[in-house]
Amino acid sequence: MDFRDARSMKAVLVPHCELNQNARLAACAERPAAVTEVVAGLMERQIGLIQMPCPELMVIGLDREHVNIRSALESRPARAALRAMARDLVYQIRQYLAGGVRVLGVIGKNGSPSCGVDETWRFERGPGRGAFIEELAAELGEQGVDLPIAGGLDTEPDKILAIVDAWDASAEAADWHRRPAGPADHTG
Ligand code: SF4
Repeated sequence: MDFRDARSMKAVLVPHCELNQNARLAACAERPAAVTEVVAGLMERQIGLIQMPCPELMVIGLDREHVNIRSALESRPARAALRAMARDLVYQIRQYLAGGVRVLGVIGKNGSPSCGVDETWRFERGPGRGAFIEELAAELGEQGVDLPIAGGLDTEPDKILAIVDAWDASAEAADWHRRPAGPADHTG
């Protein structure tokens, strides 16, 4: 593939609700529509957003207010559905990587029973990964795709953008080291 067009060749995976808070559990939307600072920050940096599916919406539904979400996600069929979503995402990621697009990493949503990275929710908030992030990490590992995963909150847009900047800088450095040496790189 030889992309001679306007694309930046950079993308990052974001939780569904980063762009669409309508997917949130009742009483949990923190914004009218999207986490605009993160969306605008990524657009300013010319980094594409790969919107992941909302695992809870897809597995449990929008009306999940009276459900113990983490328990519902632990059933065998729920885990299989999460894994299938993860597999579809890893397919997309591999397509981009094969085409030379830098997929910088995966942003999760801390505190979520599904999308938490550093913190999740079982019967209360606590350390650990959400069920979907567990399946996504396992699928990435199984397919040999090495991608960083980090979490943030809707109230931490600066932290999320700083993480993406660090990923971008490290992908840039790795590409620089991989590029073929030109005459200017040789000394002596
Ligand atoms: S399950 Fe994930 S994508 Fe869906 S609302 Fe919760 S944090 Fe957002």
